[in-house]
Formats: sequence, structure tokens, C-alpha cells
Amino acid sequence: MPSLDDILRERLAAIRKENLHRELRRVASAPGTRIETGGMAFLNFASNDYLGLAGHPALREAVVKAVEKFGVGAGSSRLMSGSLAPFHELEDALAAFKKTGAALTFSTGYATALGTLTALAGPDDVIILDKLVHACIVDAARLSGAKLRVFAHNDPDSLEEKLKWARHHAKGQVFVVTESIFSMDGDAAPLREIVALKDQYGARLMVDEAHAAGIFGEGGRGLADQLGVAGRIEIQMGTLGKAFGASGGYICGSRELIDFLVNRARPFIFSTAPLPAAAAAAAAGIEIARSSEGETRRRKLFALIAELTSKLKIVTPPLPSAIIPVVLGGENRATEAAARLRGRNIFVPAIRYPTVGRGAARLRITLTAAHSTDEVLQLADALATLD
Ligand SMILES: *Cc1c(COP(=O)(O)O)cnc(C)c1O
Repeated sequence: MPSLDDILRERLAAIRKENLHRELRRVASAPGTRIETGGMAFLNFASNDYLGLAGHPALREAVVKAVEKFGVGAGSSRLMSGSLAPFHELEDALAAFKKTGAALTFSTGYATALGTLTALAGPDDVIILDKLVHACIVDAARLSGAKLRVFAHNDPDSLEEKLKWARHHAKGQVFVVTESIFSMDGDAAPLREIVALKDQYGARLMVDEAHAAGIFGEGGRGLADQLGVAGRIEIQMGTLGKAFGASGGYICGSRELIDFLVNRARPFIFSTAPLPAAAAAAAAGIEIARSSEGETRRRKLFALIAELTSKLKIVTPPLPSAIIPVVLGGENRATEAAARLRGRNIFVPAIRYPTVGRGAARLRITLTAAHSTDEVLQLADALATLD
């Protein structure tokens, strides 16, 4: 009988053989545009801190103040020993920001998707997913026990086909779930068409704005706001760990939706609340995103995106985002390209299966408002030397 470690060694060898092995890279510096790892300095194009708020003095100060007043650990689930004020301040700010009846925060975006879909959907229901939605949505949909259908990426005709199928196969409700800006492709969902279809077929819509909140829409409200359909999306999800510079996830929606999640979302109920200081940081991040400083940062970010894509003659989607994929295909090609960039002290992650499909490996460049034009030009030069 082989030991557990024998079996795992064999599995790890198989992962290595496919060029899909991953390992942690220890970083000794703060997570900014320049990071230090392995005793060397790198320009960092791997972070989702799109507005450059993670190290912002206002967020640091909010954390220090919250720690002084509330200490560090929350001590228990929010339903158990009382729900600390910073979570309520953050949720009030989110609901006001997104113009919804209420909001609820979770410890991570991942927990948000898991808690929400498993609370709302069950075996009588149908969940229809875009082919490229994030792993947390796929896992959540599977765990809910609902019947699952997948529509072709950003394809309203394919969605309509699945909605027709669902009409005959759902005893309960039909949920459509998509992202607004896709995490590994950086392209935008046709939200107007999707909203029209879900209304036509009486379905509910959940949109994950992880890579759009803080960046698109008025004050960074998100892409749904920019496209004028936010008020028609029942379940608006996002994370607090990307453009808002902190950590956590949220759902914005009706009072009924939020009250129901407090009663039924298991990762919310059965998990210790995050640090209250994390909520304070997120609230400070949202406040900056909404302010004129946020607007200045967004303008700078989009100028950098335009600079890089025009230099490299990359064809951008109609709505360019901060995620710029350079699809190389083979897993080897992506890891080799990333290694060559590291040789020039530039850090860009190689994204491989299972994060993207097999044979769709890529470099995933993310720009942030904290980068300088000079740093982006250095990246453009280094990319131009790859074949
Ligand atoms: C990052 C991400 C999440 C998960 O959010 P975390 O706060 O990092 O757990 C969810 N959805 C999408 C689309 C993401 O990119």
C-alpha cells in the first residue's frame, strides 16, 4: 500500500510533466509596482490593485484607527457575538455607492459566490453560466445542486438557447451568472443584451464585477452602471481586494436578498468575521474610488492601457480593461516567455490550465494607476523582444 506522500509525489510529477506545476514565490517587499523576490527587484505587472490603493496612506490610516478602536480579530461569526460597526459602515457605504437597498460583505470574493449561489439555488433550479466565469462561480453553482448549463462566452444567442431549455426543465427559478469584465481575457460581457434576455425569460441575473468595480461607471460603480442596467440586476457581486485595495467580497441588492443571505449563506454564518480593520480599509478604498482622486487615477490607468496597447499594436476589445492577455497557446511557450521577462526584471504571470483552457496559456498583464509611463514603456520594450 503506497503512503499518501507516495501518491502525491506521483501526482505532482504528472503535473510537472504537463508543465502545469505552480509554486509560491516569496516576496519580501510591499505589493506595489516594484517588488523584491529572491533577492532581486522586479517591475510588477501581476497585481489586481488597479487603482493603486493597497498601499495608500488613507487606507493605512483607516486600518490603524480601526485596530486602535476594535483590536485585531473579530472573535466569532457576526451572528454569534455581535456584528462590529466597521462592517455596517462598509455595507452602508456599498449600498449607497451601488444605489441598492442593502449590501452584505463576506471574508473573500470566493466565499461571496459560494455563499450566495448555494443559498439561492437548489435542485429544482437551473443556473446558466458563461463558459469563462471564475472558478468560484463554477464551484458555487456545482455545490448548489442546481441543474447547470453553460452558454458560449459573451454570446446572447447561446444564452437564449439555454434559457429556452431552462423554461422546460426548471421546476423553480432560473439564474444567469456572468462577469462584467472577464478575469483572464479582460473583455466585457454584453450586459444590455443579457439583461433584456433574462427579463424576457423571467430569469434572475447575478453579475460579478470583480474586475470592473472601481474602474468603470460613474465614480467606479461598475460596468453595469456605465451601461445603464445596474438597476435591473438582482444580484450584484464584487470583491474588495482588487480596485478597492483591501480584502473581502460583497453582494449588493434588495433588502430581502441581503436578509435572506444573512440567514442562509453558509460561509457567512459559519465563519469568523474578517478583521474589522479590513472592512475599514475597504470603506476607505471605496471613498477614494468615488472621489475626484479616484477619477484622476482612472484616467491615468486608461492612458497607460492605451499607451501599452498602441505600442504593441494589440487589438483591444471595444471596451479596453486593465487586463491585457497575450495568448501564446502552449503551456511551455507561456512559462518560457514569463521566464524571459523575469530575466529582464519584469514580473508578468504565465496563466495556464486550469485557470484557462488547455492550449490557451497566456501572459496576463495587468496595469494599475500606480505604474509610471516609463515602467509601462519598459514592459513594452521587453515584450517586443519576445517572438
Ligand atoms: C478574484 C475574483 C474573485 C474572488 O475574489 P477574492 O476576493 O479574491 O476571493 C471572484 N470573481 C472573480 C471574477 C475574480 O476575478
